[in-house]
Amino acid sequence: MRTAAQYLDSLRTRDLRLFVDGERVPDATVHPKVLPSIRSVALTYALAHDPEHAALATAPSELVGGPVNRFTHLFAAPEDLVRKIELQRILGRASGTCFQRCVGMDALNALFIATWEAGPDAHGRFVRWMTGVQERDDMLCGAMTDPKGDRRKRPPEQPEQFLRVVDRRDGGVVLRGAKMHQTGAANSHQIVVMPGGMLREGEEDFAIAAAMPVDAPGITMVLGRQPSDDRKGGPDAGNRFGGQEVVVLFDDVFVPAERVFLDGDVAACATLLEAFAGYHRASYGGCKPGNFDAMVGAVAAVTDDAGTRRASHVRDKLVEMIHLAETIHGVGLAASSKSTQHGCGTWQVDPVLANCCKHNVTRLPYEIGRIAEDLSGGLLGTMPSIADLDHPEFGEALTTAVGGRDRAHLLRLVENMTYGAGAVALRLECMHGAGSPAAQRIVLERHTDWAERMAHARRLAGLPE
Ligand code: SF4
Ligand code: FE
Repeated sequence: MRTAAQYLDSLRTRDLRLFVDGERVPDATVHPKVLPSIRSVALTYALAHDPEHAALATAPSELVGGPVNRFTHLFAAPEDLVRKIELQRILGRASGTCFQRCVGMDALNALFIATWEAGPDAHGRFVRWMTGVQERDDMLCGAMTDPKGDRRKRPPEQPEQFLRVVDRRDGGVVLRGAKMHQTGAANSHQIVVMPGGMLREGEEDFAIAAAMPVDAPGITMVLGRQPSDDRKGGPDAGNRFGGQEVVVLFDDVFVPAERVFLDGDVAACATLLEAFAGYHRASYGGCKPGNFDAMVGAVAAVTDDAGTRRASHVRDKLVEMIHLAETIHGVGLAASSKSTQHGCGTWQVDPVLANCCKHNVTRLPYEIGRIAEDLSGGLLGTMPSIADLDHPEFGEALTTAVGGRDRAHLLRLVENMTYGAGAVALRLECMHGAGSPAAQRIVLERHTDWAERMAHARRLAGLPE
């Protein structure tokens, strides 16, 4: 298993074509807008070697016959799903943001299931590749979301809006298109592309699941902007950790057959999509409550500093933040505890509870953020810079007026998470990550046996069925 330092070294050996603000970045590991997100991923490597957390952060793998980082592990037992949520909470708390590695873990597990359903050839190719991922301890970008363009049109009507196979040559396929909102793409070793929506007969060229190195010829990455991202690396950043979302452009990328897991199998791609959505929607029950641990701590410390901490309304609002965060965590744990075994041997979350978990995540964090802004006071939006607090002429008078550095740094952390750079990985991702709210309602409607419920109600009401 890689250490955090080995992970950083491994990123430097890539010939990544990454652009930030119009400039190609020669070394992502030192760029101020990329480094905070690399630090977050590095935590996932560090924890596997931390005596306090190694038991949770690693797991025995039958594929390699030894321990692997949990982020490359299969959910081989029901407890693995629960441990994933517990690990995510610890990392969410430690980073205060998205640590980016769960998409790849959830994609591995969904692909294990989908390729098994596709048949022994597909499953064999996938398992051979996955064994290498575990041995090297790779960070994977799970790339699902296509640009989609005009939502009224199917992929064949606007192929340029979807990643697709444009050529099938001896020994592999050629891919063209783009993937959007790619969490941690520029911090990864490999990209795993998967279809982002349900496909129909006649749409086989879009039914592609395959893996490639992030620096494969034809791949260009463009970093997304975040609010206040020019503060990164400076004293007003609020958090030295960060999240990352990237647009990935595929300009005729050749993928050899041994890394093409599904090609044209529309049914297996539907399995893949649903399995991934379930896993990742439950994942938010781990990372987001961890993030809120950090936010609640910062807000409590701000009120302590201001002398309002013991006021009854402040205590009540802090308790409400805890209640909302634990509600998210509880449903994530429940989805993971109420698991079922798939025919391939691995375990799946309860789809209804996983979707309820993510649906709560599209709502409750907004109330948590509202309380955080309430309790932090107006200074959350008006605090001068650290440089002004340190100013030789007026710094002392300014500190008397607005409070000292501790207060400033705590407020900057709250600001980062509520509407600064970290709000992309928190608020926006809570809404749209792993699918927007309507996507969860579709699953909830489909998984509910409405006829059975109505028949039950009729029985209770003394009516004939
Ligand atoms: Fe992991 Fe949460 Fe980030 Fe998804 S949003 S990759 S579950 S930390
Ligand atoms: Fe996400």
